[in-house]
Amino acid sequence: MKYAEKKVKIVRVEYWSCNNPFHHHKTEEIANGCIQKSSNKKQDAAYFLKISQRNDWIVNLYKKGAKKADLARQFDLSGTRIHSIIGKFERNERNMISDAARKNRVL
Ligand SMILES: [Zn+2]
Repeated sequence: MKYAEKKVKIVRVEYWSCNNPFHHHKTEEIANGCIQKSSNKKQDAAYFLKISQRNDWIVNLYKKGAKKADLARQFDLSGTRIHSIIGKFERNERNMISDAARKNRVL
């Protein structure tokens, strides 16, 4: 009787990198286009840090009682964007609480 055999197939993939680890561009032109596009948006580490600091600020004001509509006006964002920033924070907070409960079994 024959049995199945586990084998490994290594596939070599060549791609053009735009320095985003999730991108694997097929051509140099597309990769360069992607780099151009992301530099237009200034989406570097400093940009993301600035955004996350802004979001922390928004969440803190909300916790202190600020209304979502007022935050939207103050930060020049849509109500939907404010809603999703706060929603993300609330999800993270819930997850942290349930993680702590699982680890400590006290909550
Ligand atoms: Zn890219």
